[in-house]
Amino acid sequence: MENLSRTPHLKLQEMCDCYLETDFSKQLTAMGSSKNTDLMEDGYKYLALALLQATTEQAQKLSFAKEDGSITVTVTKGNQSIDLPAPSPELLEVATGVVRDITHLEGENGKSPLVLGLKNGQLDLLVEIKKDGLKEYLTITFQQSEEMAASEKPSGAAINAPPADEPIHWKCGNCNFTFTASSLPEQCPGCGEKCDFLNITCYTPECGGPGNIDPRLA
Ligand SMILES: [Zn+2]
Repeated sequence: MENLSRTPHLKLQEMCDCYLETDFSKQLTAMGSSKNTDLMEDGYKYLALALLQATTEQAQKLSFAKEDGSITVTVTKGNQSIDLPAPSPELLEVATGVVRDITHLEGENGKSPLVLGLKNGQLDLLVEIKKDGLKEYLTITFQQSEEMAASEKPSGAAINAPPADEPIHWKCGNCNFTFTASSLPEQCPGCGEKCDFLNITCYTPECGGPGNIDPRLA
């Protein structure tokens, strides 16, 4: 079941944090060729990896273009451009949907700022969605990518997350092991799985508030 207490914004930040120390380009390549088992989850993952890859390249722009079912993903840095492994049309649709959800962009054309608070700094982005005949574009512009690594600004995740003294209940997506931790776990204590955790903490009065498990999610 989809966890409604985790906003798309928070979830994308968590995905970025989670894959921060992995080999983005290798993961992206693997995603392009493998069958997507969980489209929603993979949409977030693809978006996170593409953003991280673009950040690593110190890119000014990350562009997704779709024309006649063929998709190109380009990272632009100065007058250089690098192609990233393209997602499937379904995956791009999910990723675009995530961006629309976060920025509240509706309709065929629109622009909106997007700030992601990550473990290693803040990412200031400008998102643009454009439709031109049969061509569709999603362009993400990096506002200050060169300061990314050095900046130590408070992260957006901390603002949205429950107070630090409230433990969060997590369920491992691989082995269903449930446990508590104050932040997104690195690894499942049960099976060692990484990056696949569902926050099953209760955020409504019906199940007793934080500190309890939401039985609808567990
Ligand atoms: Zn596990």
